[in-house]
Amino acid sequence: TDLAHIRNFSIVAHIDHGKSTLADRLIQETGTVKDRDMKEQLLDSMDIERERGITIKANTVRIDYTADNGEHYVLNLIDTPGHVDFAYEVSRSMRAVEGSLLVVDSTQGVEAQTLANVYQAIEADHEIVPVLNKIDLPASDCDRVAEQIEDVIGIDATDAIQVSAKTGQGIHATLESIVTHLPAPKGNLDAPLKAMLVDSWYDAYLGVIVLVRIMDGTLKRGMRVKFMSNNTLHHVDRVGVFRPEMEMVDSLGPGEIGFLTASIKQVRDTRVGDTITNDRNGTEVALDGFKPAQPVVFCGLFPVDSSEFEDLRDAIDKLALNDASFSFEMETSAALGFGFRCGFLGLLHLEVIRDRIEREYDIELITTAPSVVYHIFMRDGAMTELHNPADMPDMTLVDHLEEPRIKATILVPDEYLGDVLKLCQDRRGIQEDLTYAGTRAMVVYDLPLNEVVFDFYDRLKSVTKGYASFDYHMTGYREDNLVKMSILVNDEPVDALSMMVHRDRAEMRGRAMCEKLKDLIPRHMFKIPIQAAIGGKVIARETLSALRKDVTAKCYGGDATRKRKLLDKQKAGKKKMRQFGKVDIPQEAFISALKMD
Ligand code: GDP
Ligand code: MG
Repeated sequence: TDLAHIRNFSIVAHIDHGKSTLADRLIQETGTVKDRDMKEQLLDSMDIERERGITIKANTVRIDYTADNGEHYVLNLIDTPGHVDFAYEVSRSMRAVEGSLLVVDSTQGVEAQTLANVYQAIEADHEIVPVLNKIDLPASDCDRVAEQIEDVIGIDATDAIQVSAKTGQGIHATLESIVTHLPAPKGNLDAPLKAMLVDSWYDAYLGVIVLVRIMDGTLKRGMRVKFMSNNTLHHVDRVGVFRPEMEMVDSLGPGEIGFLTASIKQVRDTRVGDTITNDRNGTEVALDGFKPAQPVVFCGLFPVDSSEFEDLRDAIDKLALNDASFSFEMETSAALGFGFRCGFLGLLHLEVIRDRIEREYDIELITTAPSVVYHIFMRDGAMTELHNPADMPDMTLVDHLEEPRIKATILVPDEYLGDVLKLCQDRRGIQEDLTYAGTRAMVVYDLPLNEVVFDFYDRLKSVTKGYASFDYHMTGYREDNLVKMSILVNDEPVDALSMMVHRDRAEMRGRAMCEKLKDLIPRHMFKIPIQAAIGGKVIARETLSALRKDVTAKCYGGDATRKRKLLDKQKAGKKKMRQFGKVDIPQEAFISALKMD
């Protein structure tokens, strides 16, 4: 296809504003997929994604469209993830296209992720077409939302397209606008091959599938290519496009988006942002490389049943093959035995991986408290990264600690503003900005990441009854007075419960932990002290009193079923317990104990 008849675009939106539905409708309207094969949310392929309504992998689809001017166009849509954890994946797919549809739910208006994503599109120099979705709903208010887009984002919304992705209204106008408003890609057919590696994933039959955007030259089946970041050579066995299922083609030219396979075994061998060129007489100048995604949240994953350790290793190995942003190494915990210390892009990423291990590999897991990466500056001048509070060196050897900070943008209706400010303040936040967009306040806070990773988002949703939206990005490291707090149960330290806290908040957190654990740990035949300590100093303590009677004693009068049930329940509970010295601690204690109220 000649460049003038190609349009490459992505859709940016806040979650639930209708990105996937709109993508489906564009695919359907153009007959890319026959009606009978149409299933909802074509581009969201993974089960978990579907359940949670989020798109995790960037997906792509090639759409043939005959415009009102009679010309045939090829439209390439790259669908991008909508969640903060995957901001990096958004940024890289943005670089592969020239334009964006900015979808805003016309019953809701601009939200925090709308802003975050549209800024990425602006940074990638996109032409942006605003689309006001859900106009079929009575609460739709296009004028207000168009004005808000102009005020808050600062782009012209007079030509915003009014759409119902549900009924199909405005879909034709959207397609026309893609053709008329978005620029055609540029590229040189006669130059050596220069292709951008946009994404890659593992396929059981084809090996690694590499999503590419051709900048210059031609990618052909059978040719040898070089990946410039590591100078590896590969023989291209297949070239194709997504419609959205794979379809083989002989070649891809400038401006086109498609995939190649080259018998590559591991996703790790394909660096996102890499430049692919001819093995000989290739291009000299690589594209600006993207920075690889760095895990920012770490936690331990341990099998509940320690005999499943090898199965867990297997599961993690397989998942890592397909997810270069997920890192892991073996970990031994005195309390939990053998497991893995894993790194994630954020909490959602953590949850997705954990769910997949439990669901697809049927391994029950104990997840330890998520921790951010601290920088430890030793007295001798060395700096090390701390991924696990259990590895904290002796404080006397440490000069100071630095922790990662974020800039958080929160949009919230007026009436909840007070609660949001209090929440941010409680989490050691520093207010940077407070402005209004209509009746909604936009607050910007500088916050320590470690106060956000655990349950900030849940708390925010609960204090604002779900009306706040939230987005953040990392800003860097800053020194603060941080200490390691250990938890002792029956005088034994439970390494999996130790955590880094700010010194000023240690007593409060320690007390809360001990109280929680007192409720979470079942009573035993003996008294159990539960303590929080910094170094050797106990800062909080609770005592779990001894169990006096058999719990089944109250099932008098021969109610055998009830008694049986209770015993079964106890037995089931046992399975999920871990023994620490003489004490059984139930699995949920590890997570629940760390939630702050
Ligand atoms: P995404 O998170 O941006 O991908 O949003 P989805 O496409 O998954 O849509 C979120 C919800 O809004 C789903 O329940 C859709 O059925 C619904 N939805 C999407 N577009 C429309 C629309 O135009 N009208 C109505 N009434 N509902 C819509
Ligand atoms: Mg979606």
